[in-house]
Amino acid sequence: MSEFCDVALPVPLDMVFTYRVLAETTPLVGGRVLVPFRQQRLTGIVVELHDRKPSLAIKSILSVLDLTPVLDDQLLRLGRWIADYYLAPVGEVFRTMLPLSAEFKRAVAYSITAEGRTALHLAGLLGSSARSRRTPEDQAVEFRVLDHLAAQEIAAGQTAQVREESLRSATRVSKIILSGMVRKKWLAREDVSAVRDASRTIKIALLKSADGKLNDNQQKLIETLAASGGRAPIETLQALEVPRTTLTTLVRRGLIEIIEEPAEFAVSRSKPRPSRLEFDFNPAQQAALHRIREAVEARKFSGILLHGVTGSGKTAVYLAGMRAVLEAGRSAILLVPEIGLTPAVAADLHQIFGSEVAILHSALSDKERAQQWHRIRNSEARMVVGTRSAVFAPLADLALIIVDEEHDSSYKQEETPRYHARDVAVVRAKMANAVVVLGSATPSLESYFNAKKNKYTLVDLPDRVERRPLPEVEIIDMRQEFQETGYEQVISRKLAAEIKERLERKEQVMVLLNRRGYSPVVLCRTCGKTLECQNCAIALTHHKREHKMICHYCGYFAPVPKACVHCGSEYVYFLGTGSEKLEELLHGMFPQARIARLDRDTVRGNEDFERTLNALNEGELDVLVGTQMIAKGHDIHGVTLVGVVGADSALGMPDFRAAERTFQLLTQVAGRAGRGQAPGKVILQTYFQDHYAVQYAARHDFAGFYDKELRFRSWMHYPPYSTLANVLIRSSKLDEALQWSGTLGRWFEQTRHEGVRVLGPATAPIMRLKRDYRYHFVLKSPSREKLNTTLRAMLAYASAQKIPRTQVIVDVDALWLM
Ligand SMILES: [Zn+2]
Ligand SMILES: [Zn+2]
Repeated sequence: MSEFCDVALPVPLDMVFTYRVLAETTPLVGGRVLVPFRQQRLTGIVVELHDRKPSLAIKSILSVLDLTPVLDDQLLRLGRWIADYYLAPVGEVFRTMLPLSAEFKRAVAYSITAEGRTALHLAGLLGSSARSRRTPEDQAVEFRVLDHLAAQEIAAGQTAQVREESLRSATRVSKIILSGMVRKKWLAREDVSAVRDASRTIKIALLKSADGKLNDNQQKLIETLAASGGRAPIETLQALEVPRTTLTTLVRRGLIEIIEEPAEFAVSRSKPRPSRLEFDFNPAQQAALHRIREAVEARKFSGILLHGVTGSGKTAVYLAGMRAVLEAGRSAILLVPEIGLTPAVAADLHQIFGSEVAILHSALSDKERAQQWHRIRNSEARMVVGTRSAVFAPLADLALIIVDEEHDSSYKQEETPRYHARDVAVVRAKMANAVVVLGSATPSLESYFNAKKNKYTLVDLPDRVERRPLPEVEIIDMRQEFQETGYEQVISRKLAAEIKERLERKEQVMVLLNRRGYSPVVLCRTCGKTLECQNCAIALTHHKREHKMICHYCGYFAPVPKACVHCGSEYVYFLGTGSEKLEELLHGMFPQARIARLDRDTVRGNEDFERTLNALNEGELDVLVGTQMIAKGHDIHGVTLVGVVGADSALGMPDFRAAERTFQLLTQVAGRAGRGQAPGKVILQTYFQDHYAVQYAARHDFAGFYDKELRFRSWMHYPPYSTLANVLIRSSKLDEALQWSGTLGRWFEQTRHEGVRVLGPATAPIMRLKRDYRYHFVLKSPSREKLNTTLRAMLAYASAQKIPRTQVIVDVDALWLM
């Protein structure tokens, strides 16, 4: 048996840690262990068992948590790939891959020290005169804590640890005072975090009777199993006091198996509704399905880019493909964007796949997430549908991964590890010899480029179902509107007339304004300053209903100012329009209309979102106003007009993906019009009417946009012609941020990085965010290998310069350079 094991821990360090294996425990590669780390206890994943004696003194593992690996070879390999590709600490990657935090309970406990006992003793002798400088109340609390702990110790007859919760409820001590007492060495603090088995039970199942000789321990175990009907919780067997090797031997001989069962699981809280999905396919859909099935049956990796216009019936093709996989007894994953998983979608999925589907969405509790994970791992659910992290579902015999709306930015995780689920899906499919299908009406430039280079097979769905036409798009130049009317309009005359017409015809309207709140800017006419967030270099947005000024980046809020906070002037103006104000304007213009709004202020969860969409679907609403949330994938048949009031402000930002993002948003929102019997129309108001993103979106011309945008990317050496990483240096202290970015800037200058362009250091477009000052570098290289080599060397140098790893953010394939 190996003496040591290397463990990947969820800490921001690019290394694994060696621990001694205890004689009575057998850790497994890919299984979890509980270990001491600095002053804490952490769970980590065993990545290697070995006998190489480390040079430093090492600690032993505290306990082994898993009898079977929680990450199989393929997922371990995938995790290592992510760590390597995105330069993320491997332990943090594994933590992201495993939604099992519910099985680990954090806790700390305190005990009184010799110094604490002395302090308590002296206080008793000298009275309150010895207790100087602190406030009497704080002192009283401190001695209450010491008293309590001393009493526990006397009662126990030995050192007694008291958990933080019970200590605090017994003495009403604050965390700050507790930390102060630990600093004074009156108290000892220890992490006593432990595993909680509530969400799973491990059972042992008897597979067959013995066909050879058994030793006494083995015999005892088998007999107990047989007596309890062939299955027993592991605790029952542990009570027999047989060594763990007995279990492992029996498993190896195929006599028993170890299974983990979730304690209980509720499928869904939503009530089922009749599915609207039609599996009556047109020839293009049939051809697409045929391609997918053929590829799956080949049992080797292939990638398919399914480019289907809005309303072309992509979802039905995905589900039919998955059903074929299920019938073949294999498994599949469907990834959907953040907002896509409403309870109604879940109900559809249950109707199609029954209990074979596991749905992983952001509203699940940690415990529910863990339960779903166990169902998937036990092969009870072989169809997995979920957002980003569902790409890590522990499925066996994976045949198909589908990424719906593959261009959607919610697939990119904006915290460590900064992986892109679409790209991870492609890599996982390769490892599993499976098929990956990327679907979108507006594929990302990267994916379309790959399809054009024959890395993926391009499958087109060029028509809407039932030959419905794409909507007609009319562009309204808002500068001209201003000249003709003499003042800044929110809703143009043309859009107002078209809305009126739809309301008279009892048809429905959607109006997009991609900005939350009432007014995005408060400006002082006297000193010219705006009202900014305390923590960010961002203007606060006026929210009228909440009567607050809110920061959309950190959540900070302030009262609505009556006078300028800088100079006291009363001439403060609320400028610009957000979705809240747009809704109010429409109410004023069409008092009879039933109007609702969909944005992050009106939607707290997917159920709110669905309630509003249902109301629209049932004809209980005439007009739906909202941010990009209204643009995503809904199929409402009564909408015949889509008004775009503001969706092009991104075109004015310093971001090379702005044109692509605008084109995608315009195309997606336009696609909401005319999905039923009546044809649709789109009124597109813009200040950038000559911009190609606007022009191509108006013509539904993806190929035209793609060619033009690709030429720009090629000239500017941006993806897909170049790999790119954003390196962000941040600190709450301005001089630290400056010093660190200067240090790294000099290093980039002095060290040769052939084939890598380094831009920066420059202040980040958002110079201050959540109290951090921010500087950044942008690195570009035609070679992924050279880019990552440079980044690795930079991180090593930063670490040698004592720049904390958490303050240097490396974002490989960054979507945002803000
Ligand atoms: Zn002012
Ligand atoms: Zn803020």
